[in-house]
Amino acid sequence: MKKPVYMDYAATTPVDPAVADEMMKYLTLDGVYGNPASRTHAYGWQAEAAVEAARKQVAGLIHADPREIVWTSGATESDNLAIKGAVAGRKDAHIVTSKIEHKAVVDTCKWLEHQGTEVTWLDPAADGTISCDQVLGALKENTVLVSLMLVNNELGTINDIAAIGGELRQRGVLFHVDAAQAGGKMAIDVSSMPVDLLALSGHKVYGPKGVGALYVRRSPDVRIEAQIHGGGHERGMRSGTLPTHQIVGMGKAFALAQSGLEEEIDKLEALRKSFLAGLQSLEGVSLNGSESSRVPGIVNLSFDGVDAESLMLGLRDLAVSSGSACASATVEPSYVLRGIGLSDEQAHRALRFSLGRFTTEEEVAFASSQIVDVVSRLRAVR
Ligand SMILES: *Cc1c(COP(=O)(O)O)cnc(C)c1O
Repeated sequence: MKKPVYMDYAATTPVDPAVADEMMKYLTLDGVYGNPASRTHAYGWQAEAAVEAARKQVAGLIHADPREIVWTSGATESDNLAIKGAVAGRKDAHIVTSKIEHKAVVDTCKWLEHQGTEVTWLDPAADGTISCDQVLGALKENTVLVSLMLVNNELGTINDIAAIGGELRQRGVLFHVDAAQAGGKMAIDVSSMPVDLLALSGHKVYGPKGVGALYVRRSPDVRIEAQIHGGGHERGMRSGTLPTHQIVGMGKAFALAQSGLEEEIDKLEALRKSFLAGLQSLEGVSLNGSESSRVPGIVNLSFDGVDAESLMLGLRDLAVSSGSACASATVEPSYVLRGIGLSDEQAHRALRFSLGRFTTEEEVAFASSQIVDVVSRLRAVR
């Protein structure tokens, strides 16, 4: 069987071959397999040097100081560490987030809510963005943290994090940003973007799964409580033996992302244009999320009169995502699409197409022609 065309880069990316090559050097007997925490011999020193070089590469992509990077197992853990770590030990804390954050943030905030933390859940505008005024309007005396995403994983929309961060900085409220979906897709500069904590993932940026990072600002100094204890690695913020091969892979992936960033954005912009141009003969197709404030690789579309489940069945040659979740026998529509004001019915008509580094013009042309065929066919039999 021919494999379907991969259009789900927002879910995960393949590891870049150059990244895989690099990782292989840190696994076996003839490689650097020592424990980076071993201080007594060269095996440990070499592994530590590799980890520190990778820390520089990850810091480089976001213009951070390497000492501000804490290794984790992925953006889910980074979000947990940032949010729980900022709230820990604060009685009567209040936090602000939105209804369309990734589950790693939503479920962490829900858990804290059950523990007694007060949470304000902001409703985004119809274009999927959160405004500065909304955030400021939600602040209270006891607000300790605001958590918002830079790029939404289902819509591809970009929040104005710099503006929101500027206001929060003046008010002394901590700001955590989930940037898992922004890494390698847009310029990120924490030297000009006033955020305190920022989550990154390896596998969304052509690195391996199971590794991520949390940026923790040093100036002004941000304090968070560790959520995993044992050994005091990562300046006490995250214990556990560092997975050298994973870390080296994430470092290489982020270095590649940095050096090729503009080229990659241009390429994805062109592919997105071709993809949408190929759909132009179809009526009743609408783009979900902001038209202008977005990364190019994520395209979320609703098709009038066609439900996504039937459409996906027809599109067996494409690997895409619907954002819906199967809850027992029923299919729950995407909470993100519901969150931007779509009805259940409208949300059931949407699919997310996400393009990436290895997507080709041929693939997007094939995809759009398949979509035109299947949508037309489904509408004809209605
Ligand atoms: C993928 C993703 C995560 C989770 O990252 P993992 O590294 O898979 O844990 C968190 N937030 C957003 C926005 C994501 O897209």
